[in-house]
Amino acid sequence: MSHQEPQQVEVLVVGAGQAGVAMSEHLSDNGIPHLVLERERIAERWRTMRWDSLVANGPAWHDRFPGLEFQDVDPDGFATKDQVAAYFEAYAEKIAAPIRTGVEVTSVTRNQGRPGFRVETSDGVVEARYVVAATGPFQKPVFPPIVPDGPEGPGAVQIHSSDYRNPEQLPEGNVLVVGAGSSGVQIADELQRSGRQVYLSVGPHDRPPRSYRGRDFCWWLGVLGLWDLETPTAGAEHVTIAVSGARGGHTVDFRALAAQGITLVGMTDRYDDGVLTFRGDLAANIAAGDANLLALLDQADAWVEANGMDLPEEPQARVLGDDPTSVTDPLLALDLADAGITSIVWATGFATDYAWLPAGALDEAGRPSHRRGVSSEPGIYFVGLPWLSRRGSSFIWGVWHDAEHVAGHIATQRSYLTYEAPTA
Ligand SMILES: Cc1cc2nc3c(=O)[nH]c(=O)nc-3n(C[C@H](O)[C@H](O)[C@H](O)COP(=O)(O)OP(=O)(O)OC[C@H]3O[C@@H](n4cnc5c(N)ncnc54)[C@H](O)[C@@H]3O)c2cc1C
Repeated sequence: MSHQEPQQVEVLVVGAGQAGVAMSEHLSDNGIPHLVLERERIAERWRTMRWDSLVANGPAWHDRFPGLEFQDVDPDGFATKDQVAAYFEAYAEKIAAPIRTGVEVTSVTRNQGRPGFRVETSDGVVEARYVVAATGPFQKPVFPPIVPDGPEGPGAVQIHSSDYRNPEQLPEGNVLVVGAGSSGVQIADELQRSGRQVYLSVGPHDRPPRSYRGRDFCWWLGVLGLWDLETPTAGAEHVTIAVSGARGGHTVDFRALAAQGITLVGMTDRYDDGVLTFRGDLAANIAAGDANLLALLDQADAWVEANGMDLPEEPQARVLGDDPTSVTDPLLALDLADAGITSIVWATGFATDYAWLPAGALDEAGRPSHRRGVSSEPGIYFVGLPWLSRRGSSFIWGVWHDAEHVAGHIATQRSYLTYEAPTA
């Protein structure tokens, strides 16, 4: 279908992941006409851009929107990635979200001399008064250019965690997983359990207990106000959170990973002539992760005490055990061929790409320039970004609340435009 005349819409939402669906709900609640364009399918990243065995990191009672419970998952269980995708599809249907799939937005430019934006798409032009970018917190895989591909490299297959699907996908042999956030630890664990020898490169991380005193960490972060933190603690901007819902959910424990046979190493630093070197920061990174865990237990205990709550004590949660040899006597260099490493999985995160938006919505580095999703370019909005308004912003429950704020802002702007001066 191509449109001779641009289609006119009040609000155009770009992307139909959880952020786009949440946006649609709040726009409808405010009576604001809108259209959601999605280049693939609803919740595409949950369907096809994550590994096969992935389950949600938070329990089903928590990692959902307020308006619908998971139908087929125990509230304390962890939805599979396909159940999460099906949930958002069902949610979109429930709220009758006006989503058009298979349409990519390629550019947004401000109209001259009249309000609104001209939006180029793979299916013609749309004109919108307001545009909401809901294209995801994790758009472009990034990994540091440490190990060259081709003749200068070690010949190992190198993939990003977003391209990892299952152990069978990798050539026979041993694996280095770089990055110890939720993705890296879960992938390393799966590969080791499939019979591979695995090396895991561990940087700074937080590792909350899966549960403490009978409550999941998602609950603790909620009651302690930690999901609501407005900015990362100083110096901790890039600290990843290592949690897992795999195998019914468990605390990420690097000592247990080492005991099961994974070799822990520090941050991956340099590659030279077949040899990878690691920083000597492994013990410090493990210790900082432990300190993070213990601090949360302290905060939880203080909260229980202050509120006179009757939750069972759990002193064994503080027992960390001895450091494994790979921590006390760390490997600082690894000859990849000698170690039989045929694959490297880079679980090193993502960047965003907003080159399709007007420059006024971005800072000099091309990052979104906004306050709680309201961009510096009037009429452009963001939802779903990490720390958009708080720590929970890029997570399922958090984006729903941010979308409410953004829809409210659009409603307020529209209310000014309906003002009519009294006739004399
Ligand atoms: C491995 C992994 C596990 C996670 N697990 C959890 C979890 O358990 N619990 C939790 O709360 N959060 C989790 N998250 C974080 C977050 O919930 C997800 O990243 C989620 O997918 C973000 O939703 P979103 O709608 O903001 O973005 P996305 O899911 O990325 O959706 C954006 C959509 O926009 C579309 N799009 C992009 N560009 C265009 C364009 N130009 N035109 C049209 N459409 C476009 C994409 O196709 C996509 O469907 C996880 C993240 C990762 C990476």
